[in-house]
Amino acid sequence: MERINIEELGIQFKQIVSGPAPVGRILNYIILAGKNTLKHVNGHRTTNLADNIGSAWTTEFMIGLGLLTVGRKADIGNYLDLTENGNKIYGIIKDSSFTFNEGINVSIIKREVEMSCPDLFPVFEKVFRESVVYKILKLYLEENGYEYERTSFLNNYFEELKYLYDESKEVYYVKDVRSTSVTTGGNRVPSLIQLCEFFNYVIDANSKLLFIKEQFDKEYSLGVEKKTFSKEDLEKAQIQENKIIKEIENLEEKYGVDGTVAIEAVVRNSNVQKMFRNNLIAEYGCKCMICGIENIELLVASHIKPAKDCNVHEKINNNNGLLLCANHDKLFDRYLITFKFDTGEIEVSNKVSQSDKEKLGINESIKLDEKIMNEERTTFLALHNIEYHNKNGGDN
Ligand SMILES: [Zn+2]
Repeated sequence: MERINIEELGIQFKQIVSGPAPVGRILNYIILAGKNTLKHVNGHRTTNLADNIGSAWTTEFMIGLGLLTVGRKADIGNYLDLTENGNKIYGIIKDSSFTFNEGINVSIIKREVEMSCPDLFPVFEKVFRESVVYKILKLYLEENGYEYERTSFLNNYFEELKYLYDESKEVYYVKDVRSTSVTTGGNRVPSLIQLCEFFNYVIDANSKLLFIKEQFDKEYSLGVEKKTFSKEDLEKAQIQENKIIKEIENLEEKYGVDGTVAIEAVVRNSNVQKMFRNNLIAEYGCKCMICGIENIELLVASHIKPAKDCNVHEKINNNNGLLLCANHDKLFDRYLITFKFDTGEIEVSNKVSQSDKEKLGINESIKLDEKIMNEERTTFLALHNIEYHNKNGGDN
């Protein structure tokens, strides 16, 4: 079995599991370490930025992530330097004029990154995937599965890694962690979960952690076909989005939350939705991606990841969409069909009868055009595949 010898890499156990260090704080520290010399004081658990001393929770974890490295100078003692990967990220975020949100709510930091430095995602994701922290998590998931109760995962991940060490010299994670005064288990792991959430590698809901196997398995190439939106595009979309939210609030006040028909009409006709649809038409032409129907009145820009769960970027991103005729949109929207993320082949739920399949022009040979199966879209399709299987039972 493959093991990773972290000692050889100069990494300590606490650096692969460390801390409640939110993604926002990691980014703030990259800026700090880029602009100043950050002192490294062993075991220093609180931030003392006046003296340029970072919180050990965060800095240890950043060493494990391959963002920081410890150096030593006679006059200041141990200090922290950005690694090459750390510098790549610093190059993207150094001009951000604000301090990133350090809360535990990932959607806030995601939005901040989208608005101020959308180019960060692919670079940061690549850095994450190259890190020993990621590689060990991946090995752990391959051995133990992808679904967990949140609390037990946090404790077990910590405990199991802690005691696994090499006897046969087939290498291992860590040797004597007990001597490094690594304390409490569970709260040493949340930063890892938050990073996974940030990159859409885990769904953290209802005290369950569902890691997305497809994400861990995917071949990673740096944003080859990634569409980037300009700051202006995103700001425009954000303004529209705010207007719509306001409009929906007004409608809710008027009709109650059950006035869904009126509300849906507003959302469907919104400019954000139009932007999304235009992006899809520009990509593929004005036709259903399944049956080729071309009448624009019958075509719907269908979100792969449901619009209600999307941030603005995902809402206008055509790679999160399929252009489908009304029937095929409904089938897709209700998880009665899905398209395999790796091949684009259709899967049809048992809930659709043979005769309905025929009437709807659905059969097993249908598959999405290869030219739209780019990396970003396959990632969204993987999410759809998971939900489809949840809704249709495991063996469907
Ligand atoms: Zn169609």
